[in-house]
Amino acid sequence: MAVNNVNLDHQDTIQLIYFAAVLISLWVCEAVVSPVILKSKLNHTRVNLSFIITALPIQLFMIGNVLLLCNWTNNHHWGLVNWIPFHNNPWVYYISLFMLMDLCEYTYHVIMHKFDFLWKFHLVHHSDLQVDVSTTTREHPGETFIRTSFLMLWVFLLGPTALVLVLRQTVQTFANITAHTEFRLPHKVNKIVGLVFITPNLHQVHHHYQLPYTDCNYGDVLCIWDRLFGTYAELDPEHTVYGVDTHMEPHINARFLNILKIPFQKLNRK
Ligand SMILES: [Zn+2]
Ligand SMILES: [Zn+2]
Repeated sequence: MAVNNVNLDHQDTIQLIYFAAVLISLWVCEAVVSPVILKSKLNHTRVNLSFIITALPIQLFMIGNVLLLCNWTNNHHWGLVNWIPFHNNPWVYYISLFMLMDLCEYTYHVIMHKFDFLWKFHLVHHSDLQVDVSTTTREHPGETFIRTSFLMLWVFLLGPTALVLVLRQTVQTFANITAHTEFRLPHKVNKIVGLVFITPNLHQVHHHYQLPYTDCNYGDVLCIWDRLFGTYAELDPEHTVYGVDTHMEPHINARFLNILKIPFQKLNRK
């Protein structure tokens, strides 16, 4: 297949620049229309962007491992993709792998919510009391390691090419950042787009501080898995409160070093 002949040099740099470009563009749009005072938004952004410093070395190291594994699975024709009927057809190949990887990300997200040890790392992302595009980068370095380790597992199970991973990452970056914007789609547009995709409206429900809403809308790019497995939910914006009910103290959630300690503290599930 031609998919193996594409030059993927410098993809890590290209993906980083692309991530920054989407993030900065949407942040500026938010800053222009947001009711939040600019100084407060800048402080909030500074805390969330600090997580890039801890995530980047782990992300780059682990992605190197993912690509090595990817090479191995491709060379040995290993992985579920080889069992998919008509997988030599590029349409079948790309669409089925994109959907299977999305299902894997949905599974990963459910697992992070269901096991206390993992939830303590993931709740760092949920502990943001003011969700905006900068929340996308709010990920404990422990979760960065866990997430990329799971990615290795998905690559081992499915056997995608590096190009599939690059294309998926490109879509995922756009979807994840837009899902965290302060903006909301108009109700009718959300009803249509939300049939298939995770919209900001749907992800904002996932950031509501109380169950059962925290445990819904787990989807990464697609929301079809939530609809299929009964974890889809809607909530009016006026009833949506960001955060986690066990960690609502602003003095903890607004300091980078305090947030880093959260996974190592006793968890009181409500
Ligand atoms: Zn979550
Ligand atoms: Zn989120």
